[in-house]
Amino acid sequence: MADEEPQEVVEDPDETEEERQDPEVAARRAAAMAFIRRYGDPVLRSRATPVDRFDDALRDQVARMGAIMDDALGVGLAAPQVGVSQRLLVYQVGHDSPLIAVINPEIEWSSDDEETLEEGCLSLPGVHVDVDRPVHVRVRAQDEHGDPRLIEASGLEARVLQHEIDHLNGTLILEHASREQRKEAIRTLREQERDAEAA
Ligand code: ZN
Repeated sequence: MADEEPQEVVEDPDETEEERQDPEVAARRAAAMAFIRRYGDPVLRSRATPVDRFDDALRDQVARMGAIMDDALGVGLAAPQVGVSQRLLVYQVGHDSPLIAVINPEIEWSSDDEETLEEGCLSLPGVHVDVDRPVHVRVRAQDEHGDPRLIEASGLEARVLQHEIDHLNGTLILEHASREQRKEAIRTLREQERDAEAA
């Protein structure tokens, strides 16, 4: 058996380039994913409660969510995704951008101009669906100290904000998907559940 070809490694389609290159990154991601609530958890379908105490516990929560999001290689994370039903989200678009905490957000204005892009969600691993969203939004919120925060966002930042604000209202990307894509997504999620039970 000379010169046998090495067996081809089947790639996880969800695995990012960064993970493939670095097993440490992959291990950190797996550890972070263990904190994230998955499809089927009722907290993901609940309307989260407004934050009224801007104390150290809240700021610790922001830091914890930032660390989980970072390790999970996500660009945004809403509190219900870590089992906390509060109107709080964090996001970071791009490695050099700061972590932004958005508390009690309201979309004050959104553009008529919409765009369709594929979205994934840390709570729905392996699922990608096309979602139509306004390209520009203006969001009025508070920061982690309770001070007013006004965000004018476009493109990816606007999309992440809308995705995370949806989470605060118990809405998942499945609700934005076409019937066909939703059916396909639910099939994928059920298969994962079955595999997890079998494991
Ligand atoms: Zn999500």
